Amino acid sequence: MRVHILGSGGREHAIGWAFAKQGYEVHFYPGNAGTKRDGTNHLYEGEKTLKTIPEEDIVIPGSEEFLVEGVSNWRSNVFGPVKEVARLEGSKVYAKRFMKKYGIRTARFEVAETPEELREKIKKFSPPYVIKADGLARGKGVLILDSKEETIEKGSKLIIGELIKGVKGPVVIDEFLAGNELSAMAVVNGRNFVILPFVRDYKRLMDGDRGPNTGGMGSWGPVEIPSDTIKKIEELFDKTLWGVEKEGYAYRGFLYLGLMLHDGDPYILEYNVRLGDPETEVIVTLNPEGFVNAVLEGYRGGKMEPVEPRGFAVDVVLAARGYPDAPEKGKEITLPEEGLIFFAGVAEKDGKLVTNGGRVLHCMGTGETKEEARRKAYELAEKVHFEGKTYRRDIAL
Ligand code: ATP
Repeated sequence: MRVHILGSGGREHAIGWAFAKQGYEVHFYPGNAGTKRDGTNHLYEGEKTLKTIPEEDIVIPGSEEFLVEGVSNWRSNVFGPVKEVARLEGSKVYAKRFMKKYGIRTARFEVAETPEELREKIKKFSPPYVIKADGLARGKGVLILDSKEETIEKGSKLIIGELIKGVKGPVVIDEFLAGNELSAMAVVNGRNFVILPFVRDYKRLMDGDRGPNTGGMGSWGPVEIPSDTIKKIEELFDKTLWGVEKEGYAYRGFLYLGLMLHDGDPYILEYNVRLGDPETEVIVTLNPEGFVNAVLEGYRGGKMEPVEPRGFAVDVVLAARGYPDAPEKGKEITLPEEGLIFFAGVAEKDGKLVTNGGRVLHCMGTGETKEEARRKAYELAEKVHFEGKTYRRDIAL
């Protein structure tokens, strides 16, 4: 059995690295200049490419686009839900209605299809107002605003397609929930699942959670979660998978719950039908063998064992200057000989490794304690050089 990974970021590299470490032959579509260290890169051309992959191999999509596009409808050897189920991530309206239908704890909400409806329905809410675009918006589709007029103005623009390029259509008006955010990821087969180690991630660009939102500037784990909270989170997974079954589907793949701990209870803010990035980098580093086994058992419908973390892992992301708005590209990267690095926005130019995107690479550190893992990740981060290297100094502090 060979392993075929769809995507080109650090998450995809990390998954491929874990399989390569267990002796599997790994292929990336399209991968990046760094993934070549752990496998072979190929062009990705949708269904045509999927058809070239032998039936006995496993296909693992890294990001949601592939699943929303329907890769699991094209082939049966894909570890991920079919596109009808991927709507849990691809459509916020679908996800919210699904949760309501199956009694899954989420914020109270309304759907507005037109600016007039938005103006009317917003009266049922109080500030801060939360408006969410229905479709995929690369993390930019949520507005949280105090002023009702501004919310109506921006929300209306969102509906008619004038706020975010390529995003248009109905919006969800969500009740604002105060609390602490947490994400939970699981490997799923039908109604069975194992929750992966909990990971804390850092979304803001700068230390102290300042600056603009990013895809994530670092992460660490495992994070200790009280057992009664875990029980409640398991109930949310359980109800979700029951709902998916009632809708006539079987879930196979990764499932990610974006949660808000509000008044002692977890509420689902969003579903993702894939793993998080930079959470994956930490999870696979904590126990690559356990991760691979869980995925393969989940794929085959066997007995999945919990992925027990071995010590701690820290991921310090090195980003390009200008990230997230306009990252610089083409800067030569020099690397130390040792250390675990997952590659993301990198390319090859004249035989040299150069920067090619916002998040360039992930410097990993492991240890018996969080402090040791943190120290090693930062030692590694300091040994990598490229012009404009940007990173937070407070990951896992
Ligand atoms: P991403 O893909 O970046 O995770 P998204 O666009 O799918 O985000 P959500 O996860 O639903 O959207 O929301 C993004 C963020 O907005 C959440 O992480 C949370 O901080 C905030 N948020 C969303 N819904 C609510 C809510 N009902 N109450 C309070 N905050 C919320």
